[in-house]
Amino acid sequence: MPEPTRKSPSATKTSKPAKAPAASRETKLARLGLRTDMDLVLHLPMRYEDETQVISIQQANLMGATIAQVEGIVTSCDIQYRPRRQLVVTLADDSGQLMMRFLNFYGSQTTQLAVGTRVRARGEIRHGFFGAEVVHPTYKIVLEGAPLPSALTPVYPSGEGLSQVFLRKSIANAMQKIEWRDTLSPAQLAAYQLIPFESAVRLLHNPPPEIDEGALEDRSHPAWVRMKFDELLAQQLSLKRAQFARRAQNARALPNVGTLSGAFLKTLPFTLTAAQQRVMGEIRADIKQSFPMQRLLQGDVGSGKTVVAALAAAQAIDSGFQAVLMAPTEILADQHFRKIAGWMAPLGISVAWLTGSLKKKEKLASLERITSGEAQLVIGTHALIQETVQFFRLGLVIVDEQHRFGVGQRLTLRQKSATENGNTDTDKTTSQVVPHQLMMSATPIPRTLAMTYYADLEISVIDELPPGRTPIVTRSVDQNRREEVIARVHAAAQEGRQVYWVCPLIEESEALQLQTATETYAMLVEALPDLTVGLVHGRLKPAEKQAVMEAFIAGDIHVLVATTVIEVGVDVPNASLMVIEHAERFGLSQLHQLRGRVGRGLAASVCLLLYQSPLGPIAKQRLMTMRETTDGFEIARRDLEIRGPGEFLGARQSGQAMLRFADLTTDQWIVDQASELAEQLLRHPTPENIVTVDAHLARWLAGREDYLKV
Ligand code: ADP
Ligand code: MG
Repeated sequence: MPEPTRKSPSATKTSKPAKAPAASRETKLARLGLRTDMDLVLHLPMRYEDETQVISIQQANLMGATIAQVEGIVTSCDIQYRPRRQLVVTLADDSGQLMMRFLNFYGSQTTQLAVGTRVRARGEIRHGFFGAEVVHPTYKIVLEGAPLPSALTPVYPSGEGLSQVFLRKSIANAMQKIEWRDTLSPAQLAAYQLIPFESAVRLLHNPPPEIDEGALEDRSHPAWVRMKFDELLAQQLSLKRAQFARRAQNARALPNVGTLSGAFLKTLPFTLTAAQQRVMGEIRADIKQSFPMQRLLQGDVGSGKTVVAALAAAQAIDSGFQAVLMAPTEILADQHFRKIAGWMAPLGISVAWLTGSLKKKEKLASLERITSGEAQLVIGTHALIQETVQFFRLGLVIVDEQHRFGVGQRLTLRQKSATENGNTDTDKTTSQVVPHQLMMSATPIPRTLAMTYYADLEISVIDELPPGRTPIVTRSVDQNRREEVIARVHAAAQEGRQVYWVCPLIEESEALQLQTATETYAMLVEALPDLTVGLVHGRLKPAEKQAVMEAFIAGDIHVLVATTVIEVGVDVPNASLMVIEHAERFGLSQLHQLRGRVGRGLAASVCLLLYQSPLGPIAKQRLMTMRETTDGFEIARRDLEIRGPGEFLGARQSGQAMLRFADLTTDQWIVDQASELAEQLLRHPTPENIVTVDAHLARWLAGREDYLKV
């Protein structure tokens, strides 16, 4: 079987010179994250092999293509060259013969498997042309009557140069050295119907012969449940502890829902949806507090998060503090600036603008306004954290499309108020004051993930779209039918509608992506001579980008050819047709984001997903999901199913390394229980509870805790 760590030579001692000194084995263990005895003890098998029985070769042959173990004497051992070089060994017992083939082998194996040797071999035995045969069995040289193992044999996750035998020994050795004390009390075990830590661990490393193998394999066995519970409890404790620590920090209370907030609501051309009002209430209550809010505002694309953010900013300004809004792209920052400044400037609020592309003089002017406190609201891009911005009295930080920023970037902005102009503030604790933080995301995170990865955040959800939106109709179209698509684009433009044409994602090469965009643009210019076609991509200078976007917003451009720069946030309600080329190359959340650029006005919108056949199974599934639903939460749920949590959140955010045993698609009930116990332990910091928390975190997270903190 093609499993590198079980290559047959490692199953037995070979005559090769021993070349791995102890130090290098330690390094190899460390590469697997196995540094301490406890690490080893918690290095649990990924599966088990049943070597407890030997059956006759005839019986194995009759069962056909199942994994079985047989024992016999070698009757021949030859290197053959047809169809390719291989070692062919014949093994015989009383019932018949088995041909063992090794396509990769060491020369020493010909001596080791000499005629007359007794061998126990295990593998997938099938009917071959010459009778029973097995490719790359695992095998052992044994003496007649050698006892069989009485328990299933664990197979551990391994790395290069680490044999199973060595891992097993190291783990057994570590199990003798660790302190086994259960981190949970008998009462806690009883409350959650958990088995003791020690019995769970011992059982998983050495399952008894009579064990329910199915439950062991699918990890529903109580021993696995205990491990998953412990792992999740550690994660919940770590995250929630960060949350409790935050409550102990200072923030400026922003209690005033005053003149600005009121006037602002009146000038809005619409009334807030019930969902917007509800989350607004949640945010208002939070930022009135004198400890920092850290809230994630989730809402599907187009659900109206911007106005909620602006209202929160209004409350900060009403209370006498500055607010800052950071967006991941210039296009988006620019759009926010127009929209929000458009709402606020008439009310006498001074809004500053800061991006990397500002000319030096403009930048200095902006910085000066921010530092002096003249600017009450600041809108911009990463420049807000890269530049040496000194805020005057920063009360609230808003991060739009937060998933597009790195953890570090968000942290830096949060720390900004610590470096602000201290002398003007008489409050002595200025240096420890943290601004309230509102993060917004249109990539909804299913509840399971939110609970396990964002347990230190408060979460608000806008689960309702503003009224009057017509649902987007989504179709997938073979790209051979491009002519028809172009005809549709033309028809839409003649009805006064606007169109996005998104170019294929080419991950390997930005240059290639650019080239494709330019070619698509040329193609459409030629095919649609009576329309104005525009082109926007990441390599344009900010001013050029802005000019194109402005023309599109003004309706001067009918068809906007774009790379994925328009993926997030862009809001042009008159656009009602979205064409995505090579849709099979995009991920679900990206497709959903892109599609969210249309369906923002009253007109019925259409999204055409052009694909190149043949489609792979995953791409097929994605396109089907896109046709079936426009609900971002449902899409996120399916995305999680297709990709698993690690990829879903991106390695940076996922803390995936922390969840080795729990499976978020099946173990929600364990997450719920672990979360409940974590809450209890932290809420009541009795001496016993403090000991429990510390011991549990030390056991499960030793040194890895920071990874989870942000
Ligand atoms: P997103 O949540 O994707 O950031 P936006 O904040 O860009 O969405 O809002 C999408 C559009 O809906 C904007 O044009 C916005 O002005 C509009 N909008 C927001 N709230 C409402 C509402 N309550 N009623 C009508 N339109 C609204
Ligand atoms: Mg938005």
